Amino acid sequence: MIAADRVDCPVKWCDEAGAHTIHRHYLESIPADSGRWMLGVNVVRPHSSTTGVELTTVPRHGRSTVVRLGTREAELLHEAIREAVERIHRRAGRDDL
Ligand SMILES: [Zn+2]
Repeated sequence: MIAADRVDCPVKWCDEAGAHTIHRHYLESIPADSGRWMLGVNVVRPHSSTTGVELTTVPRHGRSTVVRLGTREAELLHEAIREAVERIHRRAGRDDL
Protein backbone atom coordinates (compact mmCIF):
# COMPACT_ATOMS: atom_id res chain seq x y z
CA MET A 1 0.00 0.00 0.00
CA ILE A 2 1.28 3.43 -0.92
CA ALA A 3 0.11 6.36 1.16
CA ALA A 4 -2.02 8.81 -0.77
CA ASP A 5 0.32 11.72 -0.07
CA ARG A 6 3.44 9.90 -1.15
CA VAL A 7 4.98 11.11 -4.38
CA ASP A 8 6.69 8.20 -6.03
CA CYS A 9 10.08 8.85 -7.56
CA PRO A 10 10.30 8.20 -11.30
CA VAL A 11 13.57 6.33 -10.67
CA LYS A 12 12.28 2.81 -10.12
CA TRP A 13 14.99 1.62 -7.70
CA CYS A 14 14.80 4.76 -5.53
CA ASP A 15 13.48 4.30 -1.98
CA GLU A 16 13.12 8.01 -1.23
CA ALA A 17 9.68 9.55 -1.02
CA GLY A 18 8.69 13.17 -1.36
CA ALA A 19 11.01 15.86 -2.70
CA HIS A 20 14.63 14.80 -2.80
CA THR A 21 17.80 15.70 -4.66
CA ILE A 22 19.58 12.35 -4.25
CA HIS A 23 18.09 9.08 -5.38
CA ARG A 24 18.89 6.37 -2.86
CA HIS A 25 18.34 2.65 -2.49
CA TYR A 26 19.04 1.33 0.99
CA LEU A 27 20.89 -1.97 0.68
CA GLU A 28 22.45 -2.97 3.98
CA SER A 29 22.59 -1.75 7.55
CA ILE A 30 25.28 -3.59 9.50
CA PRO A 31 25.82 -3.29 13.25
CA ALA A 32 29.57 -3.12 13.98
CA ASP A 33 31.98 -2.89 16.90
CA SER A 34 29.57 -4.43 19.44
CA GLY A 35 26.74 -2.21 18.28
CA ARG A 36 28.67 1.04 18.70
CA TRP A 37 28.27 1.73 15.00
CA MET A 38 25.78 1.13 12.27
CA LEU A 39 27.34 0.86 8.83
CA GLY A 40 25.07 1.55 5.92
CA VAL A 41 25.58 0.71 2.27
CA ASN A 42 23.35 2.42 -0.25
CA VAL A 43 23.16 2.93 -3.97
CA VAL A 44 22.94 6.66 -4.67
CA ARG A 45 22.51 8.95 -7.62
CA PRO A 46 22.70 12.66 -7.03
CA HIS A 47 20.72 14.53 -9.69
CA SER A 48 23.87 16.07 -11.15
CA SER A 49 26.12 13.05 -10.92
CA THR A 50 26.54 9.41 -11.78
CA THR A 51 25.31 6.47 -9.76
CA GLY A 52 27.64 5.35 -7.01
CA VAL A 53 27.87 3.68 -3.63
CA GLU A 54 27.22 5.50 -0.39
CA LEU A 55 28.87 4.35 2.81
CA THR A 56 27.41 5.72 6.03
CA THR A 57 28.81 5.36 9.53
CA VAL A 58 26.38 6.15 12.29
CA PRO A 59 27.75 6.03 15.85
CA ARG A 60 25.47 5.38 18.80
CA HIS A 61 26.53 8.79 20.05
CA GLY A 62 27.87 11.61 17.92
CA ARG A 63 27.83 12.59 14.32
CA SER A 64 27.39 10.26 11.41
CA THR A 65 29.54 10.47 8.31
CA VAL A 66 28.76 9.82 4.68
CA VAL A 67 31.30 8.86 2.03
CA ARG A 68 30.31 8.50 -1.60
CA LEU A 69 32.34 6.12 -3.72
CA GLY A 70 32.52 5.65 -7.45
CA THR A 71 32.08 2.08 -8.59
CA ARG A 72 35.84 1.62 -8.99
CA GLU A 73 36.49 2.96 -5.49
CA ALA A 74 33.79 0.69 -4.12
CA GLU A 75 35.44 -2.28 -5.87
CA LEU A 76 38.81 -1.38 -4.32
CA LEU A 77 37.21 -1.19 -0.88
CA HIS A 78 35.47 -4.50 -1.47
CA GLU A 79 38.75 -6.13 -2.52
CA ALA A 80 40.58 -4.71 0.49
CA ILE A 81 37.98 -5.99 2.95
CA ARG A 82 37.91 -9.38 1.20
CA GLU A 83 41.71 -9.55 1.37
CA ALA A 84 41.74 -8.66 5.08
CA VAL A 85 39.15 -11.33 5.90
CA GLU A 86 41.02 -13.93 3.84
CA ARG A 87 44.27 -13.13 5.64
CA ILE A 88 42.52 -13.59 9.00
CA HIS A 89 41.05 -16.93 7.88
CA ARG A 90 44.42 -18.13 6.53
CA ARG A 91 45.99 -17.41 9.90
CA ALA A 92 43.19 -19.00 11.91
CA GLY A 93 44.61 -21.88 13.97
CA ARG A 94 48.14 -20.53 13.78
CA ASP A 95 49.92 -19.29 16.85
CA ASP A 96 50.50 -15.81 15.47
CA LEU A 97 46.80 -14.87 15.39
ZN1 LIG B 1 14.45 9.26 -6.20
